[in-house]
Amino acid sequence: VEPTIDVKVFVDKERGKVLFAESGKEFVDVLFGFLTLPLGTVVRLLGGQSQVGCLDELYRSVEGLSTDLFRIEACKAMLLRPINAAAKQCCQLTVRVDDTKHREVYVCADTSCSVTAFSSVTGAVCNCGRIMTQLAGERPENPPNAAASGACEDGAFVKGGMKFIVTDDLNVAPASTSLMLSLLDKFQVPDPSCLEQMTLQFSSVKIIDLLRRSLTSQNPLTGHYLDVAPDDSVVDMLPEYLHPEEQDNEAEHSLVNASLRVLQTKNNSKVLYAEVGGDFVDLLFGLLTIPLGSIVKTYGKSASKGCLDNLYTSIAGSAHGCLRPECQNLLLSPMLAPYFGYGASKMLQVEELAPDKLDINACFKCFKSRGFANHYLCHVEPWCNYQKRYVKICYEKGKTTKLCELDPKTPEGGCEEAAYVKQGPQKFIVTDDLHVLPLSLASTLQVVIEAKLQRKDLVEKEVALTKPQVVNSVKI
Ligand SMILES: [Zn+2]
Ligand SMILES: [Zn+2]
Repeated sequence: VEPTIDVKVFVDKERGKVLFAESGKEFVDVLFGFLTLPLGTVVRLLGGQSQVGCLDELYRSVEGLSTDLFRIEACKAMLLRPINAAAKQCCQLTVRVDDTKHREVYVCADTSCSVTAFSSVTGAVCNCGRIMTQLAGERPENPPNAAASGACEDGAFVKGGMKFIVTDDLNVAPASTSLMLSLLDKFQVPDPSCLEQMTLQFSSVKIIDLLRRSLTSQNPLTGHYLDVAPDDSVVDMLPEYLHPEEQDNEAEHSLVNASLRVLQTKNNSKVLYAEVGGDFVDLLFGLLTIPLGSIVKTYGKSASKGCLDNLYTSIAGSAHGCLRPECQNLLLSPMLAPYFGYGASKMLQVEELAPDKLDINACFKCFKSRGFANHYLCHVEPWCNYQKRYVKICYEKGKTTKLCELDPKTPEGGCEEAAYVKQGPQKFIVTDDLHVLPLSLASTLQVVIEAKLQRKDLVEKEVALTKPQVVNSVKI
């Protein structure tokens, strides 16, 4: 049976509007979980129809680019299925929307390789040069998740044991008499008996519908309840300036060497594309790994025409006391998974989780062959009588292993920060709507033909490179 979450909505029939909803922790957890979703995940969940700026086009570009343009094959998957840094919490949600396997552990498939490292991404390259494809399973909770063992009633992000009020525009607060009265006043409901109460069941499909609406509408609950067609106009979610106001100068200089040539019309009416290097493409692709909440944190109300900013401000505001203390910051400043930060996320100063470490209670060989299960076999004497039959077990002396997480983007254990896209002579073109293509005569001509322009109207210009201009030039 597919899990669902019950939410009671209070509908003003006359005005055709859901005024607010009452729910338990499960629904509020799912809503707060939206803020932890990387943008690439949002695009994927919405079937490439997120209508958020040019993200859909950017996502399609990653899909369309040949894997050999990426540093390693795994880089492409990292952008298309970014790992959620709050995966531990999101795995506890009653209804999950993101099916990415966030907590899987991959090791080098070569049993004789002794590089004690793992990756969270399949296809990462081990220091020995081989591909890490051996799945050791999902890393266990450490300490075991108290909620799962029933020891406490807390949710993934919020405390247990209370009811919440969620307004149509996603303000979240603990339910109280005074809040109910103030909402009745606010919505000018003199007679509460004229409100209709309905219980909605949210499955994962319905929650994805709610996510879509919350990006584009101020009334996602009403829209969902009445099933009105979602607004499909493109949302300017990422304003022209990708970087926040207070930008340190050091970061400002880092891009100055990037070169950008633009093909445009002579009368400045249209930019067809910019000719860029891999560094600029990386800057754009990095957007896909940024959690939704970080965008809301940086741009606030202007982040979208939806109402996720209300959800965000509830965290430190009306819902402040309801959050598990350790989750407050996790939602206020959502982070990137280890090694996912590059390009745009650096510009927006989104922090990255520290790489994970694993203490394995077995030797490395046994861990490789059996994963997280059956560790005890490593500790049994060779040829001992185990469950009344003789089994050949482990001869290793060392029975514990420490594994560190490896940067999947860095082949051969290089230590500098690695980009997603191969940095080299390969040039790319980025069209006005953020479609990224490898530069070739065919691709450039195609853009010109599609724009229905004559050669005499076109001119190539070199663009001066301050960061805002770089970003402006492609109009995110
Ligand atoms: Zn290896
Ligand atoms: Zn062993």
